Amino acid sequence: MKEKKKDDTQNTSGITRRELFKGAVTVGIAASAGTLALNLSKTDADAAEKKMLPTKWDETLDTVVVGSGFAGLAAAAEASKGGAKVVILEKMPVYGGNSVINGGEYNSWDDALHLRQKLNLGDDSVDLHTKDTIKGGDFYGDPELVKIFTEGATPALNWMMEEGGAKLRNILNRTGGHTAYRTHTCVEGVGRGYTEALRKIALGRGATLRLNTEVTWIWRADTSGPVLGIEVKEGGKKKNIRIRRALILASGGFSRDIKMRQDFNPSIVPEFNCTNHMGATGEMIRFAQAIGADALQLCFIQLYPFAEPVKGTLDAPAVYPFRGPGYGIVYVNKNGRRFVNELERRDVVSRAEIATGMKPTYSIFHEKMIPKMGTKEEVEKGMARGRFMQANSLAELAGKIGVPADALVDTIQKHNQYLRDKKDPEFNKPITDVMMVMDEGPYYGIAQWPAVHHTMGGLRINTQAQVIDIWGSVIPRLYAAGEVTGGIHGSNRLGGNAAPDAVVFGRVAGTNAAKEKI
Ligand SMILES: Cc1cc2nc3c(=O)[nH]c(=O)nc-3n(C[C@H](O)[C@H](O)[C@H](O)COP(=O)(O)OP(=O)(O)OC[C@H]3O[C@@H](n4cnc5c(N)ncnc54)[C@H](O)[C@@H]3O)c2cc1C
Repeated sequence: MKEKKKDDTQNTSGITRRELFKGAVTVGIAASAGTLALNLSKTDADAAEKKMLPTKWDETLDTVVVGSGFAGLAAAAEASKGGAKVVILEKMPVYGGNSVINGGEYNSWDDALHLRQKLNLGDDSVDLHTKDTIKGGDFYGDPELVKIFTEGATPALNWMMEEGGAKLRNILNRTGGHTAYRTHTCVEGVGRGYTEALRKIALGRGATLRLNTEVTWIWRADTSGPVLGIEVKEGGKKKNIRIRRALILASGGFSRDIKMRQDFNPSIVPEFNCTNHMGATGEMIRFAQAIGADALQLCFIQLYPFAEPVKGTLDAPAVYPFRGPGYGIVYVNKNGRRFVNELERRDVVSRAEIATGMKPTYSIFHEKMIPKMGTKEEVEKGMARGRFMQANSLAELAGKIGVPADALVDTIQKHNQYLRDKKDPEFNKPITDVMMVMDEGPYYGIAQWPAVHHTMGGLRINTQAQVIDIWGSVIPRLYAAGEVTGGIHGSNRLGGNAAPDAVVFGRVAGTNAAKEKI
């Protein structure tokens, strides 16, 4: 991507009339004053036209990262290492966004412990991970960007383990849409296992974190100049922060932004539950668009097929149906019958669930699968909360979850035979040697239903994690990483791919941001 030489003016007095005129004309705004900010906001056109660059800054910072999830923390860590003085701004009262509540699943073809080889789970490679990811997103993902995260996934995982103290469970899963066992789980079984590691590295390298600080605007004077600063709301007050080196957007997706969801994909109706934290709203995408950033594929919004059916929570039990397919878990509808190939992608499974016309559906597994998917302790906690049902026989389990007993018994017996025959005539699931026949109790069942989960679209970036404008040029000093970006996962993100994407591109953004001259 060609980068033009930019004026790096820190305040409005340095903006020439010619530049202002150019910016105003190009974006179609009135160049009525020397302090006009570049601003394409359309929600409040009057206010938008009057949006003026600050005449004085309340504070000056070197590098600002917006968002404290995987992408933000990784970016802060690497930018700090490169010599930048980094402040992470987080609008919520707690750090971590979706990352800290995530299911702890991280896809990588290898790891420092070489779990796949140790557990004898077949072959994998960066190439295979790349191919699965591109195919799993219906070839809408940019292969160059995909390759960056699939290649970077293993080094980033090892980095979190070696420098941050992250620890992995001694399991590896093959999950929907993947052709290999590459889904790693941290010991905590929740994303905190990685965010704590990243936080430790980032803060240890000198980055600081400010909670309850919401970014409410990005300042840029014209269509060719750099980002100049941001407006934030802190303690109920607005203030303007000048940014000398770089602004990194790591503000996550917009699954909680019902209007934005509706604007781009009306099929994701407001009635759907949502798995995300409440701060997963898309304002930073809109602010970036208002200063010329391009966004793509915003209509691609993912449903998680295994959320808790009443509220849509993605708690520890809700991850078992995701981890289970590689070991022989079976999904059944309310008639006790299979309705899909369990190794299918999330979009396919979600659609198949909805097509049953009967809420909810269930995952069925047995005792021997538990150590392959999680821990006995997690299952017991889930049972105490009524999330998992347990029974000594399949017929008893059927009674507990409310499906016909003869049908459930028949379904599992047939599935057992498919595993023995290594052929699934019903749904053509690829059978592997480690899938388990369910012939001995206790048996378990868990109810599941789709909920809005991930937004695949977002800001357009290049391989350096620089944000690209609507004309195809780099917006100087503006970077983005993680779920706020688009064009990587295509139409459907494979489970476990968001964490490596966010960490790897966070690292890329931070490393490059630190190289910006001030
Ligand atoms: C429940 C759940 C489970 C998941 N499990 C997995 C999994 O196991 N494996 C996997 O790969 N993926 C999983 N995902 C997806 C994955 O966790 C996310 O895609 C990933 O965490 C996004 O990281 P991020 O750093 O881009 O954004 P986030 O972690 O969401 O962080 C963005 C942060 O930016 C803040 N922010 C937003 N706007 C502003 C603003 N204007 N000013 C200041 N701060 C702002 C937000 O409050 C938030 O804290 C899961 C998602 C959910 C919701």
